[in-house]
Amino acid sequence: MTEVDWTRLKAQELRVLAEQEAVVILPVASIEQHGPHLPVMTDTRLGHEVALRAARLAFARQPTVVAPVVWSGLSEHHMPFGGTLTVSHATFRALVADLITALVRQGFRKILISNSHGGNIIAMQQILDELSPDCPATLVATTYVSEAGARYGEILEDQPSVMHACEAETSMMMVCEPDLVDSSDLAALNTPMDGPKFLGAGEASYRWRPFAHVTANGVAGLPGKSTAEKGERLLQVGAEAVADLIADPETWVAPQDMRGDRLAGVAFRKDV
Ligand SMILES: [Zn+2]
Repeated sequence: MTEVDWTRLKAQELRVLAEQEAVVILPVASIEQHGPHLPVMTDTRLGHEVALRAARLAFARQPTVVAPVVWSGLSEHHMPFGGTLTVSHATFRALVADLITALVRQGFRKILISNSHGGNIIAMQQILDELSPDCPATLVATTYVSEAGARYGEILEDQPSVMHACEAETSMMMVCEPDLVDSSDLAALNTPMDGPKFLGAGEASYRWRPFAHVTANGVAGLPGKSTAEKGERLLQVGAEAVADLIADPETWVAPQDMRGDRLAGVAFRKDV
């Protein structure tokens, strides 16, 4: 099997991958509480697993390598339950930006931030907004559960999509770390999300709240019908979605410039 784990490769092998215009997946995740039945590594473990599977699936179409997971994510909202190691937005931004710079200096020009934690989504997009205009690499950010989208809903029985420490995450952890899942009474942990709004107000407005605002046990969703068989299908579908994103040439095309040389008789500056 082709080795796609950055940490297991030798420097010269990574230099070859840079020459081959390989995609680098930089997974970003979290260490945070995942209810009484899952370990705090859940997002980090699942994000790494999906990234490795996606890289292997994509490799024949587009060489791909997976950098180590940035486990230090934005999890302030999970702090009330303990077990959570969060960092500030400034630290997260600086770390991700520095790692992108290190990849760019080695010649990599296709970088995919693959996120596995909801709390990182807005920051990840802000980082790309800020870095992309002056970055020689194409930067793309995805969250694998969103990239897989409706395909997850077809597999899950009790939930329309992935939530937190839920039917989906519990099922996937039954595949990745079966010894660390306490499945003694999963149905008792079921926590429907039909109570107060979490990060929202009105029709489409944002309002921050800690996770304890919507759940008593740290779970959001219905882990009661979790199975390893379901988890394997979810992991594979997530990996296929990310692999398709990687292998699609459209993902990496340079920005087009539709301006022409001049408009209303006045020339444009082409360096702006
Ligand atoms: Zn999670």
